[in-house]
Amino acid sequence: MTKIVIANWKMNPASGLQAKRLFSSVFKKTKEIKRAKIIIAPPFIFLPFFKKKSNLALAGQDVFWSNSGAYTGEISPAMLKSLGVGYVIVGHSERREHLGETDELINKKVKAALGAGLKAVLCVGESERSGENFHNFVREELKKDLKGVSRRAARNLIIAYEPIWAISGNRTVKTDKMVRPGELFEMITYIRRSLLDILGKSAAYRTPILYGGSVGAESAAEFLGVGGLDGFLVGHASLSAEEFIRIVKAI
Ligand code: PEP
Repeated sequence: MTKIVIANWKMNPASGLQAKRLFSSVFKKTKEIKRAKIIIAPPFIFLPFFKKKSNLALAGQDVFWSNSGAYTGEISPAMLKSLGVGYVIVGHSERREHLGETDELINKKVKAALGAGLKAVLCVGESERSGENFHNFVREELKKDLKGVSRRAARNLIIAYEPIWAISGNRTVKTDKMVRPGELFEMITYIRRSLLDILGKSAAYRTPILYGGSVGAESAAEFLGVGGLDGFLVGHASLSAEEFIRIVKAI
């Protein structure tokens, strides 16, 4: 399976000019790379600046759950498609936390995105690892967020496992922890097992599973070494073209 690397720019950079510069440096330095699918997820407002390139695909950082209606401020799946966007991140933990997104809402978004022919990158992950229940938490999230998704639609599904405590914005000196490669391997296996129960064999084998949480070039190489991982969702490190490209090259 071709590895996938998604650059989640979050609410960055501050201006259109900076966004164009960042996109063009990544574009120039990744032209020759064929072994990875590189996807840029800028803020919505910058999407029209970028054309889908042969080496770079585009993703929305979110999407609304309907294609039409009076929903002030929202962006529909059809609007994203009309800009050449092929992917969309759904259920990012920052939206769950700061915007109150519930599993019910995320489920509607996943279905709307898949229904419109977008590839949905569903983010799941536990907020802490105290106790034994974090595997089960992720399984329950998957169950709720994928409720009613057909096996056919699931062909366009991607899962991003992002333990919330490992995301750079949430790490402090006190909780400066990273997932260990062995723990990641265990979780990927668990997610595949959960997908088997929820969506069947084909989804369990074929759904790409990405990891996100403070990935840098060195940790990327280490994580890939354990096997079973299909790529990364990269946050802060994707704001530096050099660092992001080092991650892509680690693949
Ligand atoms: C993210 O935005 O999904 C993410 C994983 O961020 P970071 O790489 O900064 O931890």
